[in-house]
Amino acid sequence: MSISKALRWVALLAAALLLGLFFKGCEPRQSPIHPKTLLIGMDGVQLQHYEQLGGDTHLQRRLFSGKAYAGGVNGRASEQPTISGPGWMTLLTGVWANKHGVISNAESLRIDPEFPSLFKRLREALPSAYLSSVVNWSPINTAFLLEDAQGNNVRESGLDDERVTDRTLEILENTPADFTFIQLDEPDEAGHASGFGPAYQFALREADDRLGRLLDKVEERAYKNPQEDWLVIVCTDHGRDFWGSGHGGVTEQEKTVFIASNKPLNEELNQPSIPEDNPGPNNLYGYAAQTSVAPTVLRHMGLDLKPEWRLDGTPLLGATGVRKARAIEADAKLLWNSDSSGTVIIHKNGQVVTNVQAYLQQWTDPQGMRQANDYVLELDDTPVAVRTRPASKPFILEEISY
Ligand SMILES: [Zn+2]
Repeated sequence: MSISKALRWVALLAAALLLGLFFKGCEPRQSPIHPKTLLIGMDGVQLQHYEQLGGDTHLQRRLFSGKAYAGGVNGRASEQPTISGPGWMTLLTGVWANKHGVISNAESLRIDPEFPSLFKRLREALPSAYLSSVVNWSPINTAFLLEDAQGNNVRESGLDDERVTDRTLEILENTPADFTFIQLDEPDEAGHASGFGPAYQFALREADDRLGRLLDKVEERAYKNPQEDWLVIVCTDHGRDFWGSGHGGVTEQEKTVFIASNKPLNEELNQPSIPEDNPGPNNLYGYAAQTSVAPTVLRHMGLDLKPEWRLDGTPLLGATGVRKARAIEADAKLLWNSDSSGTVIIHKNGQVVTNVQAYLQQWTDPQGMRQANDYVLELDDTPVAVRTRPASKPFILEEISY
């Protein structure tokens, strides 16, 4: 090595050391951020009745929350009954039942491996992540996700809500708890037993108390572990009928749900955007859809959302992409809401077919929509999917009530 070369090395080394000192000075502990998620499901909670408990609930005081809808869009390809199997699987996969396949509560049903749950997607992307699913209503674990969630570290079913809560506190205390999903069932049980009324309100109060204990634990843990970035989401699988004792149908009340979070979420949850051609009852379809929860969790956990996943939901963190993507099969039209000056990349059945200015908010497929197609609309690295129904297929609306 020549002297000048050696000097250059010394200078480089000194610069590197100085740079190291500089960063050390700014940030004494430079450990990477560890994203963590706790997803709390409360079965069969009617938002209006939860709100009637008053302003002192943990939901109201400690979380940001917004109205949302379950059950897909009435009369369209995404429609599904407002019951637990389809609802929880939509929350956990980010797609409607016309993709995940759990169209009822039949325990013989399994989610379609083409549309895996958060558990499987996280297991594949983060092989050493600690994943837990603790539920009161067993079929979530023992039927629909039986194969899908095989890689979980914890999978417990059939615990009453108090035991679900205790077990979750234990997981949050003693494990890496990268992604934890829990389901509390007692509000739904109270609704079935006696409809809306004091017993239902009592069950909601108890669920809210449990939410409070879980939030306390997350806050305590986040304080002790400042490198952990915690996302807590609270949601429900469906609303309830007029009396509160049943659900499954297509009424506004049964379709009305909520999504709440410890983090402020984006405009998809906070600023409704109405699909003018089909606003739904009282503009319900302008609110976030139940499909939004899964892409939100995936993005928080550091995964890039991929077009080939064909997720139906708009993420509630970061860029929304186009909003309210939808198809009108008879006109061979894709519609969406956007005021972006960007370009939407349109994929059809796995191929990019065209680019369209986002502000145009529509595109007509020159080949028509006689077949069932999977479209993906991608804007700002945020894909959102629509599966169409063959135009020839008659739509039979089955009333299922549980
Ligand atoms: Zn129920």
